[in-house]
Amino acid sequence: MVDWSGGNDRGPRPVKDAIWACIGTAGIAGEPIYLRNRQLAEDWLVDTLTTLQDAGHRVLVGFDLCFAYPTGFATQLVGSEDTLALWDWFEARVQDDPKANNRFDLAGEINAMFPGTGPFWFNGLPRDIAHLPRKGLDRTSDHGLAEKRAADVAIPGSFSPWQLAGAGAVGGQVIMGLPVLARLRHRFGKALSVWPFQPPEAQIVLAETYFSLLPDLVTADPEPIRDAAQVSVYARAFSALPATDMATLMAVDATAEGWVLGAGQAALLRKALISNPPLLKNDCFAMPQGAYWTPVAEAQNHLRDRLTCVMPAEDVALKNAAGRFLAKDVHATRAHPPAPNAAVDGYGFAGPAPEGIVRLPLVDGRSAAGAPYHGHVPAGHAIRILTGANLPQGVDTVVLQEDVSANGTEVNFHGPLKKGANARDAGEDMVQGQTILTQGRKITPGDLGMMAAVGVRSVSVFKTLRVGVLSTGDELREAGEAATDGEIFDANRPMLCALAAGWGYQVVDLGRAPDDRDTLRMILDDATHKCDVILTSGGASAGDEDHMSALLEGTGSLALWRIAMKPGRPLALGLWNDTPVFGLPGNPVAAMVCALVFAAPALSVMAGGTWTEPARYMLPAGFTKSKKEGRREYLRARLENGQVTIFASEGSGRVSGLSWATGLVELDDPAQKVGFGDPVAYIPFSSFE
Ligand code: AMP
Ligand code: MG
Repeated sequence: MVDWSGGNDRGPRPVKDAIWACIGTAGIAGEPIYLRNRQLAEDWLVDTLTTLQDAGHRVLVGFDLCFAYPTGFATQLVGSEDTLALWDWFEARVQDDPKANNRFDLAGEINAMFPGTGPFWFNGLPRDIAHLPRKGLDRTSDHGLAEKRAADVAIPGSFSPWQLAGAGAVGGQVIMGLPVLARLRHRFGKALSVWPFQPPEAQIVLAETYFSLLPDLVTADPEPIRDAAQVSVYARAFSALPATDMATLMAVDATAEGWVLGAGQAALLRKALISNPPLLKNDCFAMPQGAYWTPVAEAQNHLRDRLTCVMPAEDVALKNAAGRFLAKDVHATRAHPPAPNAAVDGYGFAGPAPEGIVRLPLVDGRSAAGAPYHGHVPAGHAIRILTGANLPQGVDTVVLQEDVSANGTEVNFHGPLKKGANARDAGEDMVQGQTILTQGRKITPGDLGMMAAVGVRSVSVFKTLRVGVLSTGDELREAGEAATDGEIFDANRPMLCALAAGWGYQVVDLGRAPDDRDTLRMILDDATHKCDVILTSGGASAGDEDHMSALLEGTGSLALWRIAMKPGRPLALGLWNDTPVFGLPGNPVAAMVCALVFAAPALSVMAGGTWTEPARYMLPAGFTKSKKEGRREYLRARLENGQVTIFASEGSGRVSGLSWATGLVELDDPAQKVGFGDPVAYIPFSSFE
């Protein structure tokens, strides 16, 4: 969906009233794309359509500009009502430059071809232009054309294409859009058709649409810039539309003046949107262009900002909630402690006790946990009280039993003792109604204790993320199977499965895939029915046998990240049938490190948690190393005698180092020389989750 504009270059920062575009696929919209001027927009359209065409997609391109004028106009200019010939007429005459264009002059020239003043009006320039009135009322109607097309009449609030400028006007952007449409048409030839002037059967179909058919849904969209929200909402709606409904929208007979796709049919678009809530955006993995080697921190920030929870919520009993992510905040059902009580075993009385020897007669009875004393303890008296017992009326202070001598009728001890000593206030730990845990929290055993203490019985948590693990490569055999010299055992799968299980997810073992695109496609199709996210290893680069990246590329959602990190090669990220796929490197050391550094926090977000930074401990180095600039390095490490030592070889083929190590040393991007005893950041494997 393209929100067109007739204005000049709008500058580098995304702003409204510029050209905005957004690609929707099956009800999921990509990030809205800001196009600061028409030249960039045209280049982007050509590139994007070429890519989608090569990948075999069918594409509907919606533009919010009139594809035609009221009946009679084309005949005056090109001798017939051939709209597409009219496009070429404009293409030959419109001059466009990011800073200036000739739309007002051309409108004046066209007006001169009509009797009277001609149809166009609203000269937006300071200088006068022959034949172009400044006001609509300054025109005569000798031109004989209608103010609006039938399609415009059908849409309340739409503007006449004759009005070139002023708030809401469309006339300028039509003149500045038709030449671009004409060039696209010639560029893509038979692969492109223009609805409704041609049957919508080509691979690419251009159609006119109007972005005010669903105003409430645009307002509700979180995109702050309205143009961006519009293209996003309509990209979702049109791409979610079932084929039969699309056929209904296209079944209009308006080959003369054209039609607005969706006019009068907003209910169908609305239905398509509502039955398809957005999940991850199709380009959630797309990296900003221009960055060749992406720094680790930038790649992480990108994932953190784009990924969202992909799981629905469910209620589970408290005892089953450990390790799950909270879908709702949890509030204390009652105060903790619910009533004032004794923190120790001893004798309760009304404090404070003065300096010197204190003697207090004992009342008959005692207060124990679960068996409180219901009477009132008179001033100057004490009562036997046990840990956790409610303080009876008249008692606010407890003296420790080890500090007294007592004989059954009297208790003696040395003062002073402060009022409130050894006593707990009601609600001093948690007050009733207090938020004790927030959404996204991964529930710990301690959380269970706390929630149980305030009477929480069940919690709303996200369903457990199902993580598929797949190894790819013709050379792989199952560990222990017969294998030739050219074959290796699949080391990644057991490792990645165990990592995912350790993070608390449900592991779906997807086995091994050969280096064959069709088989891989089938395995992925099947996996999307039983997994919420897929971790693959191998085949993630851009080589001949890198089928994982090639397949993801075909979805239009692939992002091949070259990360400035050692170990690690490109990470291939994409969506397969809307299921996110993390294509990890095949090399086991790189696969493990990339899984820890990227997949662990990303999965946590998709599972409903928050992006968590692993705990880093600054510890003295038991090694020396000089590191070059421009990449982050992770070394396999462990602790020996309070120092961090690193594995003998940095060779990324040494799988044994993964077992030797208990964690990683992280050396940040700048060049550095590490000497013995210098503090380095050590991250235990258990910190990644
Ligand atoms: P690739 O990314 O497919 O080019 O693989 C890179 C290297 O990692 C190659 O040497 C592969 O043989 C190796 N490799 C790929 N997958 C695995 C695996 N599951 N277990 C062990 N080694 C692997
Ligand atoms: Mg391979």
